[in-house]
Amino acid sequence: MARVYNFSAGPSMLPESVLNRAADEMLDYNGTGESVMEMSHRSKEYDAIIKNAEALFRELMNIPDNYKVLFLQGGASTQFAAIPLNFMNGSGKADYVVSGQWSNKAMKEAQKYGDVKVVASSKEQNFSCVPDVPKSELRPDADYVYVCLNETVHGNLMRTLPDVGDVPLIADISSCFLSEPLDITKFGMVFGGAQKNIAPAGLTICIIREDLLGNAREDTPTMLDYKIMADNDSLYNTPPCYNIYICMLVLEWIKKLGGLEKMKQHNEAKAKILYNFLDESEMFKGTVVKKDRSLMNVPFVTDSEELNAEFIKACTENGFINIKGHRSVGGMRASIYNAMPIEGVEKLVDFMREFELEHKEAK
Ligand SMILES: *Cc1c(COP(=O)(O)O)cnc(C)c1O
Repeated sequence: MARVYNFSAGPSMLPESVLNRAADEMLDYNGTGESVMEMSHRSKEYDAIIKNAEALFRELMNIPDNYKVLFLQGGASTQFAAIPLNFMNGSGKADYVVSGQWSNKAMKEAQKYGDVKVVASSKEQNFSCVPDVPKSELRPDADYVYVCLNETVHGNLMRTLPDVGDVPLIADISSCFLSEPLDITKFGMVFGGAQKNIAPAGLTICIIREDLLGNAREDTPTMLDYKIMADNDSLYNTPPCYNIYICMLVLEWIKKLGGLEKMKQHNEAKAKILYNFLDESEMFKGTVVKKDRSLMNVPFVTDSEELNAEFIKACTENGFINIKGHRSVGGMRASIYNAMPIEGVEKLVDFMREFELEHKEAK
């Protein structure tokens, strides 16, 4: 069967060249006579893989030397607890911006550990926008301020960061990781699960400013203590070895394409095709205010549930899979991460145009 265009919010498409290379190397990695899946994480071959993955992260994201790059497990969701455990250790206060489901979940988890304040929320607007964060709401003695840069479920992207002064800013970048350049120096920590833009599910990447490490609460589980993970170069226990290898291949793919500035152009071009169509269509409408539209996750609706269902079914039958919106919001959502080729978006829009025409005639 021909490969489909997978518009899933995660796990999502990986570059075909990466999958082919992994297939080629499946039984014999680099003359070792074994698969990376079978390799000791303490071997010199594997050491080269994890070091290369880290070096590529540093190069592509322009990560300064005073930041650690950690390869962990547990998904972004585990960090929702690890973050307060590691950092809510001064005043015991943390300020959260709630711009969608993921930041809301992170906020709820942090409430178990200390004094959490929601400093801004767009819940009243159904997260169709990113809330403004009034400086007066932020607490200067907070241990950190938390944001989710790209809210995957609702499809909004925070383009302007809150003015946090000297308080460390922590950002969930799961669904916009490596999608465009990001100034790491503005953050105390960024993190994300790999399954949206980087590798198969099971790998979580945390990039943390060194001076924030070493103050975890005493009852922090060893596996959630970032300092211990950093001191052991992410090899305190067995890391998700194969995922880190795929991550390395994806980073090499991005480098070959020209880096994150090129990636951004590629992503903007794709998003523009889809948003332009949504703006001109009489049947399909985008759900997010224009200035906050995500480049990665594009939610849209028609004015009828039946039509939504019919469209989703037709998509699946025509090789555009996982276009159904998140179960909590309904409608449709096209996730167009780095690995989605421009043809995938062009073909989807052609298909939407035809669908609209046919259904107009039928009326
Ligand atoms: C997918 C996602 C998560 C959850 O990731 P897991 O790895 O499944 O825990 C958290 N935050 C954002 C922004 C996401 O897109």
